[in-house]
Amino acid sequence: MSNFVFTPSPTVAVPIVGSDKRFPVRRVYCVGRNYEEHAKEMGFTGREPPFFFFKPTDAVVVVPAGQTGQIAYPTLTKNLHHEIELVVAIGKGGKNIKAADAFDHVFGYAVGLDMTRRDLQNEQKKLGRPWEIGKSFEQSAPIGPITPKDHAGDIENAAIWIQVNGTDKQRSNVSKLIWSIAEFIEYMSAAWELAPGDLIYSGTPEGVAAVVGGDTMVGGIDGLETLKVQVM
Ligand code: MN
Repeated sequence: MSNFVFTPSPTVAVPIVGSDKRFPVRRVYCVGRNYEEHAKEMGFTGREPPFFFFKPTDAVVVVPAGQTGQIAYPTLTKNLHHEIELVVAIGKGGKNIKAADAFDHVFGYAVGLDMTRRDLQNEQKKLGRPWEIGKSFEQSAPIGPITPKDHAGDIENAAIWIQVNGTDKQRSNVSKLIWSIAEFIEYMSAAWELAPGDLIYSGTPEGVAAVVGGDTMVGGIDGLETLKVQVM
């Protein structure tokens, strides 16, 4: 029995590989321009301090293993881009976490997509305004199941890739992150208190490109469940 004026939104929860339990999502952080060749394709040098933005929790589209997720083509844009990303799932919170201790705070990893209304993001960049309208819309953060860190293999040297309709679009390696997992956890936890349930989309390599209705994206990272999403 509650006295809410309406039913609260359900908790967004991501399946965990090898478990019946699910990972309840608290916050969704994203790291900007964290692969040098992607920073260059966006017109930057690739060498700058890390920066971050958020997506709302309800941007997360949970895609169970072996299934094809579906996202609606969003409003207002004519240039919806895929960004394939390693997602780091936080299992233990903390402030001012040192890089040397960062992996103690990691629960596991998943394949994610930072879907981006690039035309709107570019307008906001030019105006020096926040990116939310380009980045933080409904269904902009599809994610596959989370693999616990001890079962994810050598994630820091894993291949990361995405194909659209069977054609390679992005293909790189997590080792090319400008700010490594441990480094961005240290940096972020100085700015915000991380907590269990936080997801961190860690940035995308080069090759971002537009998708349209009907396209099927298949993204993978060695050691993790593949993520398959169709644009409706
Ligand atoms: Mn991104």
